[in-house]
Amino acid sequence: MNIAVCVKQVPDTSSPGRLDPDTHTLDRAGKLMLDPSDEYGVEMALQLVAAAGDGVVTLVSMAPHGEVTGLRSALAMGADKAILVSDEALQGSDALGTAKVLAKALQRVSADLILAATESTDGYTGTLPVQVAELLGLPSITFAKRVRVEGQKVLVERQTEAGYDEVESPLPAVVTVTAGVVEPRYPSFKGIMAAKNRPIEQLKVADLDLSTDEVGWPGAGQEIISVQPAEARKAGEIVVDEGDGAERIVAFLEQLKVI
Ligand SMILES: Cc1cc2nc3c(=O)[nH]c(=O)nc-3n(C[C@H](O)[C@H](O)[C@H](O)COP(=O)(O)OP(=O)(O)OC[C@H]3O[C@@H](n4cnc5c(N)ncnc54)[C@H](O)[C@@H]3O)c2cc1C
Repeated sequence: MNIAVCVKQVPDTSSPGRLDPDTHTLDRAGKLMLDPSDEYGVEMALQLVAAAGDGVVTLVSMAPHGEVTGLRSALAMGADKAILVSDEALQGSDALGTAKVLAKALQRVSADLILAATESTDGYTGTLPVQVAELLGLPSITFAKRVRVEGQKVLVERQTEAGYDEVESPLPAVVTVTAGVVEPRYPSFKGIMAAKNRPIEQLKVADLDLSTDEVGWPGAGQEIISVQPAEARKAGEIVVDEGDGAERIVAFLEQLKVI
């Protein structure tokens, strides 16, 4: 079974991001890491291939300045190979532009199943995987908390507010996984060494049969007009228990309509 995993490489998630003052987009100039959200998709793919007894896991990423650090991390987990699309012309791409690029790159893989995270850590529009599915004419299932493949079908437990739905789809399909679908493994020393020799195919926009007018700033259908800092968190209310603590907590929760 061939599985492709969309993996985003993002700025260090432990430090606050910096926005470009002119374009209001995230500064991605420095070293980028594997988006922690995508560790779940990579682990899921490795487990599905192991369960099938045979197969290849291919990573697909679009990232600036030929960045491969995050891809090497995912290869160290055990993925077999990667495709990176990196091109100056992609600067300013919005979510749809990114989806067009990834869809073209994914066409080179002929995957039975395409996995992605439900949303990324830095952009988190949560729209990219379904756009990829639409562009490829494939069914998509979002919010998977459990994924199984049986023959030519994928069976998914799809997280809902009330519990989960059992959903199935013919393959190939695009499935987005939630955090917690599996426990991502830590790369072993052997895996880290092996990752150094695993192939990363590097592509430009011209390699993808895409015009530079469809991507980057020229192709972006959205513009970030302004950015406002998030409101500072208000201090919490301290309730001193004078024998009525439980009632006051219940009243507070009722006011919030959580009970
Ligand atoms: C007008 C506009 C201009 C922008 N300009 C820039 C810019 O100049 N530079 C820039 O870096 N960003 C820019 N962005 C942000 C960038 O387009 C988004 O981060 C990107 O489109 C992915 O969307 P997302 O992170 O919201 O994906 P989501 O839909 O939240 O991601 C879901 C999942 O899709 C997969 N995925 C998402 N992105 C990628 C990727 N690149 N490669 C592989 N898998 C992926 C991952 O599995 C991810 O977890 C811009 C956005 C807008 C709206």
